[in-house]
Amino acid sequence: AFEFSTIGQHLGTGSGIEELMDDLGHALAKGGPNIKMLGGGQPARIPEINAVWRERLEQLMAEEGGLERSLTRYDSPRGNPHFLEAIAKLFRESFGWNIGPENVAVTAGGQTAFFFLFNLLAGAMPDGRRKKILLPVVPEYIGYANQSATEELFRAVPPVITETGPHEFKYGVDFDHLEVGDDVAAICFSRPTNPTGNVLTDAEVARLSGIAKDHGIPLIIDNAYGAPFPNIFFADAKPFWDEHVILTFSLSKIGLPATRTGIVIGPPEIISALGSMSAIVGLANTNIGQQIVLPLVESGKILELSNDIVRPFYQEKSRLAVKAAEEIFGDAFPWRVHRSEGALFLWFWFPGLPITSKELYERLKRREVLVVPGHYFFFGHDDPTWRHRDECIRVSFAMDEAVVRDGLKIIAEEIRACLSGS
Ligand code: PLP
Repeated sequence: AFEFSTIGQHLGTGSGIEELMDDLGHALAKGGPNIKMLGGGQPARIPEINAVWRERLEQLMAEEGGLERSLTRYDSPRGNPHFLEAIAKLFRESFGWNIGPENVAVTAGGQTAFFFLFNLLAGAMPDGRRKKILLPVVPEYIGYANQSATEELFRAVPPVITETGPHEFKYGVDFDHLEVGDDVAAICFSRPTNPTGNVLTDAEVARLSGIAKDHGIPLIIDNAYGAPFPNIFFADAKPFWDEHVILTFSLSKIGLPATRTGIVIGPPEIISALGSMSAIVGLANTNIGQQIVLPLVESGKILELSNDIVRPFYQEKSRLAVKAAEEIFGDAFPWRVHRSEGALFLWFWFPGLPITSKELYERLKRREVLVVPGHYFFFGHDDPTWRHRDECIRVSFAMDEAVVRDGLKIIAEEIRACLSGS
């Protein structure tokens, strides 16, 4: 066997999430027509939105130089200059933020932006100190978990849980236990959050921003589902920006995940570092996503598509899924769902569940219902005595309503069965 470096061992030898994704993939490939895939993070295919992509590709092909611009040239590592300018202008005009193209970088999806940002800011420092990324709330996006090139990068704070309805709850930041020492490199959260659909309130964001500013560190906000695009954001809350804030965006959840287009807005020194990292890792990013949406960003139409089509589409799916859960779970056993304020998922909590979420996942898989067991999302806070970590599952509502309903019925049957000891 060949020897792997420390970085090689961190990045090249698999991870919990890779195993899970493989397992889901195999189950899906093996399964018959009855499989209920509620486990993925795939956005839905929305016909009106796909029609826009089709139209834009036809325009690019018809336009003089369109194909050449989209496919036959390397862009500069930080992104296409017209695209960077258009993004800066969109945010200036939409929100009044004082930003220019020097505040914008393109990466190969939001995922790559996070790999760059975490490894840029945290880990071993030149003077020997070690720094961590602070997650002010877990559960948090599993895709961050194994992104460190060298060592564990995360410290996470368990949330305050507020019961907001008979079957509803909401996580909040536990500011009393949020310790920000010299070893914190940045504070980071997704808004809306994958897996929970939580949107940290404007007051929480302002307070976290103040804490980051006082410590001279960045606040990173992941807007993969957020405002202003794709705007799968149902809460009454506002986008936030300040000079120490790093915002990430993506074209994935508006419907272009295969173009791998991430967009970062941040302080120029961070943006410049991301350009350097893109050059080293990949020379340049794909142009096609930027070229597809450029006129939509310039005209602001991307905001209309997000507000008028994408958001209502998912908000209705969320409403139907919550209604289905109320009907199907009823009062048969203890359950709660996190208030659905955005993203593509319902986060169910089964207080007192006698088996772990991993075991529930296995039982559901045998019944051809695929979900994501909740314990994966609690990285950075390893307290085995905190039962809550094993009592939750993530269920996607991006599928057809009938599939979601059938899946919820089987979830209810399995929970009843394990409560009655079978
Ligand atoms: N951040 C969050 C919270 C996500 O859910 C995802 C994808 O599911 C990403 C970032 C990365 O997405 P992409 O790399 O497709 O932009």
